[in-house]
Amino acid sequence: MTTEASIIVIGAGIVGAATARALQRFGHAVTLIDSAEPGRATSYGNAGFIAIDHVLPLARPSTLKRLPQMLMDRNGPLTVHPPSLPYLLPWMARFARAAYSAAEVRKGVDSFGPLMAEANMAWKIEIQASGLGDLFKSRGALYVYESEASFLAGAEERELQKAKGTEFEIVDGNRARELAPGLSSHIVRGVYYPHGMHTINPYRVVEMLAERFAADGGTVRRGRVRGFRREGNTVSAVQLTDGDLPAKAVVIAAGRASGELTRLLGFNAPLVAERGYHVMLAPDNVRFEMPVSPAERGFFVTPMEEGLRVAGTVELAAPHQPPSWHRADLLVRHLKDIFPGVGGAEQSRWIGERPSLPDFRPAIGRAPRLANVYCGYGHQHVGLTLATATGRLIARQMEGEALTPALAACDPGRFG
Ligand SMILES: Cc1cc2nc3c(=O)[nH]c(=O)nc-3n(C[C@H](O)[C@H](O)[C@H](O)COP(=O)(O)OP(=O)(O)OC[C@H]3O[C@@H](n4cnc5c(N)ncnc54)[C@H](O)[C@@H]3O)c2cc1C
Repeated sequence: MTTEASIIVIGAGIVGAATARALQRFGHAVTLIDSAEPGRATSYGNAGFIAIDHVLPLARPSTLKRLPQMLMDRNGPLTVHPPSLPYLLPWMARFARAAYSAAEVRKGVDSFGPLMAEANMAWKIEIQASGLGDLFKSRGALYVYESEASFLAGAEERELQKAKGTEFEIVDGNRARELAPGLSSHIVRGVYYPHGMHTINPYRVVEMLAERFAADGGTVRRGRVRGFRREGNTVSAVQLTDGDLPAKAVVIAAGRASGELTRLLGFNAPLVAERGYHVMLAPDNVRFEMPVSPAERGFFVTPMEEGLRVAGTVELAAPHQPPSWHRADLLVRHLKDIFPGVGGAEQSRWIGERPSLPDFRPAIGRAPRLANVYCGYGHQHVGLTLATATGRLIARQMEGEALTPALAACDPGRFG
């Protein structure tokens, strides 16, 4: 076991891997530790979209208004795993409080703008620094609408995007079909983001970040963190099943499981799993190169290196519940409605757990009451998008830079 203390990043998902890279570039000795191979959890199977257009937090009154209708529809974009309901109720109550609080919604709006601006820049830097160019495509992105009403429901977010300088073009159904050949004739509208970027293999992005991190002198190791050694307000070591690992500082980036670690350190991270599914299909008749999302159905269709990925929808569930594979079947049915004739035989299916805090703002920065513990979790639907920004913000905070007021809204101490 290493005896020299390093910064220990717990969790080698996209957030942990990107954070380890950022800290390494700031000149630190870093150990990236995970109980599994890097990138095998939620970061494995997302839709691959760098969603810098996401500037309106999901905890807001309009989401709450749509909730009863969404929950009643078993095939809707959001469902609750029924046996998990008692576990979920406290989180749902907190979500409702955050969504109804004008001050909380304002904090979300004010923090997502700067976070997305940082993400845009941070990905450019990381793609260059880690040689990830072949894994990313800048082909734009397209949201499509099946009715005028659902298009109008997105007006609030588009207004905000306009104010933040996000470029987009509102198109009619015919133009949407030109941009994404194969789209159904019933699509009436689209919103095209010409600067949209996506990865063609989210898992390989994590794998390559970890490889480059190791090649540049970082340590990647396998192990489950099960506790911490404390000296006053400082963590001096993380405890693994086979001994202690000395720590100069610690970053908790363990996705949905982060709350189990923060509890050991005396603070709360009320995370639940917003489970999502993907299905990989043979890329038959795929004649578009950008991610396409039928907004009201809550999923993405993304052309990827290994086929066509249909990914998304939300199922709130307690940890360790069996998958509800009918949600993956649903994704395939959705695809057939939106892109009839596109996509061939199913190749694989997957379930992942978006790590979500009730106010839908991530936790980024120094932990409460602890001198050398930092947090990077709770990235919900936009963890791929915000991973590199999170890494840079944590690295800068370690250098002593104060968080801006907007980013202070992501303070990990806000849940007590
Ligand atoms: C269907 C779907 C589609 C999505 N699409 C997009 C998208 O297009 N764009 C986007 O930006 N985001 C998207 N997301 C969200 C994104 O995938 C997540 O926000 C992101 O992967 C979370 O990354 P993470 O590193 O926090 O967690 P994870 O990837 O879950 O990594 C956490 C790691 O911590 C490890 N760990 C946990 N506990 C311990 C411990 N005690 N000791 C050691 N290791 C531990 C785990 O093994 C795991 O490897 C999507 C999510 C889903 C489910």
